[in-house]
Amino acid sequence: MSAQRRIYLDNAATTPLAPQALEAMLPFFTQEFGNASAVHTWGREAKRAIEAARRQVMRAIGAQQPQEILFTSGGTESDNWAITGTVFAKGKPEECHIITSAIEHHAVLHTCRWLEKLGCRVTYLPVDGYGRVNPADVEKAICPETVLVSVMMANNEVGTVQPIAEIGEICRARKVLLHTDAVQAVGAIPVDVNALQVDLLSLSAHKFHGPKGAGALYVRRGVKLANLLNGGAQERGLRAGTENVPALVGMGKAIEMAAEDQADNAARMTALRQRLIAAVTARVENVRLNGHPTERLPGNVNLSFDGVEGEALLLRLDLAGVAGSSGSACTSGALDPSHVLMALGLTEAQAQGSLRLTLGTDTTEADVDEAADRLAPIVADLRKRRY
Ligand SMILES: *Cc1c(COP(=O)(O)O)cnc(C)c1O
Repeated sequence: MSAQRRIYLDNAATTPLAPQALEAMLPFFTQEFGNASAVHTWGREAKRAIEAARRQVMRAIGAQQPQEILFTSGGTESDNWAITGTVFAKGKPEECHIITSAIEHHAVLHTCRWLEKLGCRVTYLPVDGYGRVNPADVEKAICPETVLVSVMMANNEVGTVQPIAEIGEICRARKVLLHTDAVQAVGAIPVDVNALQVDLLSLSAHKFHGPKGAGALYVRRGVKLANLLNGGAQERGLRAGTENVPALVGMGKAIEMAAEDQADNAARMTALRQRLIAAVTARVENVRLNGHPTERLPGNVNLSFDGVEGEALLLRLDLAGVAGSSGSACTSGALDPSHVLMALGLTEAQAQGSLRLTLGTDTTEADVDEAADRLAPIVADLRKRRY
């Protein structure tokens, strides 16, 4: 077979680094190597660079003050810290209640499970068939012990966007803190901490063309958060350790560009998404779109193919030069159906037969058409083998 063009449709997993972000990072690997805590010129240059990055993050999400932005190693750390940090700041876990949803990222769900072991009570709200949390369910679940509501802004598997502003309104009225995992949202849809009325918000650089291993947690002024790492005075003394200066500089540049281009990219990617859905449904029978038809991330397509095993489909697609992702996670050799798809009410077989294709800022119409062309015969072949 002749060498074929490779098509990357797994941008929800990670995105390529923007060349401009790389360029901004490079000097901080070489001549600008100072420790940002040092008082000499090298140190002050590094400090100036990370504080500029902090303001870039602040502006991109509509925060008011640079101190509201705490740097982390990524989305997982931000999610962990938002949840454990609010619980530990309130006091004893056994006196705390948290409300979250059944379709959160494992960085949130496993943190909640861990806190349950420490005596914390957690309510996992159900979602509707499209993956939406009902704000009325949040309201009903709030009790005097509730210290935090954590609902993601947009789901990483099915792309469903949650009514965070409505949930924020409820939380504010009931004086309960609201955290949102906005890792998939930044750069894809408008993210403004005041419009959303959130108190804490997680983001991760590598999901918006920044480097891996860098992220941030927005913490609204006045919100008490327990410290994460003990040591030096970095990050207001809440997260000690010498900063990863190049990564933070790269994140700053990437989020500035992502916020600037958000509306244009969203319009273009929504059109491409609809084109991909139409192309696949025109070529393949018995396909269902998982997630909400319109309240979804511009670049997310999640499909279930009857009678097809998602993992097999994924491997065959990879051989055909198309990178996607399946709704099943391989744990200890067994394929567990996605907790997200199960919460949406899919059968185990439907959940196992799912494929996620996530578009990026470089995805073209030709990529989308070509991916559908390569996908259709593979689905047909897998179905033939099965029956
Ligand atoms: C990728 C992702 C995370 C984890 O972020 P990392 O920076 O990879 O740790 C958390 N939540 C969501 C919704 C994600 O998509």
